[in-house]
Amino acid sequence: MGMWNPWRGCHRYSTGCKYCYIHKGDYRKGIDTNIVTKTERFYAPIEKTKNGIYKMKHGQTVYVCFSSDFLIADADKWRMECWEMIRERSDLHFLFLTKRIERFLDCIPHNWKDGYENVTVGCTIENQENADYRLRIFSRLPIKHKNIICQPLIENINLSEYLQDIELVVVGGESDKNARPLNYDWVLQIRQQCVSHNVHFEFRQCGTHFIKDGKSYTLCTRDLCSQARKANINF
Ligand code: SF4
Repeated sequence: MGMWNPWRGCHRYSTGCKYCYIHKGDYRKGIDTNIVTKTERFYAPIEKTKNGIYKMKHGQTVYVCFSSDFLIADADKWRMECWEMIRERSDLHFLFLTKRIERFLDCIPHNWKDGYENVTVGCTIENQENADYRLRIFSRLPIKHKNIICQPLIENINLSEYLQDIELVVVGGESDKNARPLNYDWVLQIRQQCVSHNVHFEFRQCGTHFIKDGKSYTLCTRDLCSQARKANINF
C-alpha cells in the first residue's frame, strides 16, 4: 500500500467535514488548511532510482489525496499531470475519495473514455440528502471501479437504489469529543442492503459516541477501528 498526496489543503464542503481530521491536525500545527498547495511528492509515482527503477513498487494500491480532495477546484491546474502519471503507472492501482463527485466530468482527461482500469473512485456521503444527490450523479459516471464511503455516518441511510456496479461500501463513525453519535442499527441496516445486493461491505470504524442496543458508549480514538473489527460483520 502506498500514499500519494500531490497537494494538500482543503475547504469544508459538507456537513461531514465538520470534524475533518486534516483541519484539526493543521490547526494544532498552526497551518491554514484552506491554502491548497502542491507538495514535494507531486511526482512520487514516476520518481526513479539511479538505476532507472520506479521508487513506488509495482503492484500496490496507492491511496491518493488523503490530505485534500482529488477533485477540489484549487487543483484544476495540476490534475491533468496527475492523470498522466496514473496512466503511465498502469502497474499500480490508484484510489481516491471525494465529496465533490459533481465535478468529476470536468476533471477527467480526454482519453478517459469509460474509465482507467487502474483507478477506483470512492464517493463519500454522510446523510440521506447527500446520498441522494451525490450517488445519483455517481451512478451515471463512467468509472471502472466504484466504492461508496459512508463516513462519518451521521444518520440512517438507505442506499438500496444506488448499489448497482458498486464494489465496496465502507461505513464508519465520526471521531471527535463532540462527534455526532453512530448508531449500530444504521450500520447493520446498510450491511443488510449490501448483502441483499451482493456488494462487499466493511465496517471500518466506530464513532467516538456509539450507540448499541439503546446504550451510549464513548470510545477512545485509538479503539475506533479495532472495535469495528471486533464486530466481525464485514461481508
Ligand atoms: S472534503 Fe474531506 S478533506 Fe476536505 S474538508 Fe471535507 S473532510 Fe476534510
